[in-house]
Amino acid sequence: MAHVIVITNQKGGVGKTTTAVNLSACLAASGVKTLLIDLDPQGNATSGIGLDKNNLEFTLYDVLINETLMANVIYETQVENLHIVPSDKHLAGAEVELVDVPRRENRLRDTIEPIRDRYEYIIVDSPPSLSLLTVNGLAAGDSVLIPLQCEYYALEGLSELLQTIILVRDNVNPALKLQGVLLTMYQRTNLSRQVIEDVRAHLGEKVYQTVIPRNVTLGEAPSFGKPVIHYDAHCAGALAYLALTEEILAHN
Ligand code: ATP
Ligand code: MG
Repeated sequence: MAHVIVITNQKGGVGKTTTAVNLSACLAASGVKTLLIDLDPQGNATSGIGLDKNNLEFTLYDVLINETLMANVIYETQVENLHIVPSDKHLAGAEVELVDVPRRENRLRDTIEPIRDRYEYIIVDSPPSLSLLTVNGLAAGDSVLIPLQCEYYALEGLSELLQTIILVRDNVNPALKLQGVLLTMYQRTNLSRQVIEDVRAHLGEKVYQTVIPRNVTLGEAPSFGKPVIHYDAHCAGALAYLALTEEILAHN
């Protein structure tokens, strides 16, 4: 049965998608069968892995709203062992349409169930909100990975997110765990170092040892539709995501 990791933070631009795409690709490179689910109407994970999001026959929207089977919306990627369930802007409509669906918080969980035994890991990329889509991600997850950007406001909004996780645990998914907190976009500045110290003091061993540096190559790779290990395997960003993957595989 796949372990489902949901990558979430309602703050925008903290590295959720970069982490979802690159963790998925590094897991796949270790020979682990992996499915990436794009739960964001921006479709950045979809294009970042090399699919044309303006030209998709079926997307996650069809699974959540039109009763299309998840199995029929799984696409292969250029990466061996890595499949994706893509999304595009239509998913924004699901936010509203889901309100009238029975078991609306469990829609993603229910639709993943039939394909769950095909993979070892399922990685879910969430939108920057605490919306019904995000709640669907949390309800479907075994664990949550929270990226935090190494900047002054890193911890802002975190208590709200942790509160949402508690609500989801209490109401729909009692088994949901905090997988870990990942520090991203680290720069060699006093501010970055200070943020790391504060976050570690606050969250202790929940913070991964691996810190993702700010690395231009990580920002470039998506425009070529490639995970960084298939774009420049030796850059600092690639090495960091490989280290994160080892850390996760060692602890799960
Ligand atoms: P959103 O909330 O909009 O979904 P996000 O949390 O998914 O954003 P990303 O899209 O992963 O964040 O990252 C935001 C931007 O920063 C992107 O342009 C991405 O390429 C870039 N980026 C992410 N991580 C790094 C990094 N470690 N070094 C340099 N650039 C990065
Ligand atoms: Mg994103």
